[in-house]
Amino acid sequence: MHYHIGNMLILQEFNGGDGCPLCRIRNILEKRLVEQYLNEAVMEDSQRQAVNERGFCMHHTQMMHARQNKLSLALQYVTRLTTLKGKLEITADKKIGKKMADAFEHCGNTCVICDAVEENMVRYYKTIAEMFAGEANFKAALLSTKGFCLEHFGALLRYSAFAHGKEKDYLYTLTKLQKDAMNALLEDLQWFCAKHDYRNADKPWNGADTALLRAVALAHGTPAK
Ligand SMILES: [Zn+2]
Ligand SMILES: [Zn+2]
Repeated sequence: MHYHIGNMLILQEFNGGDGCPLCRIRNILEKRLVEQYLNEAVMEDSQRQAVNERGFCMHHTQMMHARQNKLSLALQYVTRLTTLKGKLEITADKKIGKKMADAFEHCGNTCVICDAVEENMVRYYKTIAEMFAGEANFKAALLSTKGFCLEHFGALLRYSAFAHGKEKDYLYTLTKLQKDAMNALLEDLQWFCAKHDYRNADKPWNGADTALLRAVALAHGTPAK
């Protein structure tokens, strides 16, 4: 297996840290893309066309808005809204009204950054399975994580075939890791609940004070800021 940038990022984030390593990788990708889309100078025509057609979701708009370059974001919204305005027809026709309902109802959810992130993440899911199959040390790195958020756990399972001859071992390792992580988290969460009983007020938290936040992160992932 030859190393490319994707493998390096996987090895960097499968490092025994807390939380879902794939959320961390996705957040790194998102931040890079947000910077890229704010840097107008590098925006090619094809990219501009994609922004016009797909736009940005609320999450990625907020990420861009939180950064310095408001003009760049405003200019992209000018072209996006111009495209959308072109689809708005003043009409008394029911059929055209229905067609426009389809065009507008969910147009705030399509996003060029989401599209690019998803495309890249699929490559990571496949590469992780390939690394499990091809690199002797990677199983230990995988086991050093504390499991994944549920979306990323599901995605790893979906692409398990890329572990080829080691797919069964990969599936077993992943599912055992995730079950153990969920058992530990639920134990902490139950202790978090029990600590709200006044009779347990003086007992130690044993790390359970963060259990609710960790449970939410497991269920929904950890978004980039
Ligand atoms: Zn995740
Ligand atoms: Zn998005």
